Amino acid sequence: MEAAKVGKLPKVVVPVHLTGQPCDLAAIHALGQKYGFRIIEDASHAIGGTYKGEPIGNCRYSDITVFSFHPVKIITTAEGGMALTNNDELATRLGLLRSHGITRDPALMTQPMDGSWYYQQVALGYNYRMTDIQAALGASQINRLTQYVTRRHEIANRYNELLADLPLTLPWQHPDSYSAYHLYVIRLQLDKIAPTHREVFEAMRAKDIMVNLHYIPVHTQPYYQHMGFKAGDYPEAEQYYREAMSIPMHPSLTDAEQDTVIDSLRQAMGK
Ligand SMILES: *Cc1c(COP(=O)(O)O)cnc(C)c1O
Repeated sequence: MEAAKVGKLPKVVVPVHLTGQPCDLAAIHALGQKYGFRIIEDASHAIGGTYKGEPIGNCRYSDITVFSFHPVKIITTAEGGMALTNNDELATRLGLLRSHGITRDPALMTQPMDGSWYYQQVALGYNYRMTDIQAALGASQINRLTQYVTRRHEIANRYNELLADLPLTLPWQHPDSYSAYHLYVIRLQLDKIAPTHREVFEAMRAKDIMVNLHYIPVHTQPYYQHMGFKAGDYPEAEQYYREAMSIPMHPSLTDAEQDTVIDSLRQAMGK
């Protein structure tokens, strides 16, 4: 409403299914209908998740959904990703832009073909083709998607249970959705523990436990500071940054390793 009043409505909104927890897509879609913006889901964390019983990526509430297949993601093709859409026009456009804006489809050409060798460049595209070798890796990885996400849920359920007594805010799960659990992010209740956020983090790293911080609020990065954003602009994101920590979450994590993570965290927090 504020944005509509000052004439600053976005053309496109990119909801991120952060950590694998699907956003409230129906609500975002309703806003899109009302204010006339397009929706691109950033589902880099959410392949294998569901929203209202349907898979993330079916674009029921969006124009395009993108997955990332970077090596740290749920499934990988070493690098690369995928864009999905139900819109034929967008699909054609994406296909063109993937490969230099070149087409061999007579229907997209401005004149009859000179011969069977003929192609036309109809847009200025990119070189974004996935290699066959990467695609082969992806085809084998996707067969394991359910297995991977199921295992991630087992790990999450175990963390939920075994961390329940610590002064932590554990991930919240919307009842309408099934997370892909790309990340398991805890938030330290800093007023209830003696060590600082950084001390807990460093104590875990000192034990070779690869905790991480997803993510540094982007408006505090130099690029955005140069655009005029400054610390204090997004207090919720900044509060999250002061408390958040991703603890190990991947399908090959064993129960014994998970116990080590939990014991180390308990010690690091002085509990
Ligand atoms: C990894 C990631 C991206 C980028 O994916 P690329 O495959 O590197 O382009 C974008 N958004 C989120 C939320 C991610 O986690």
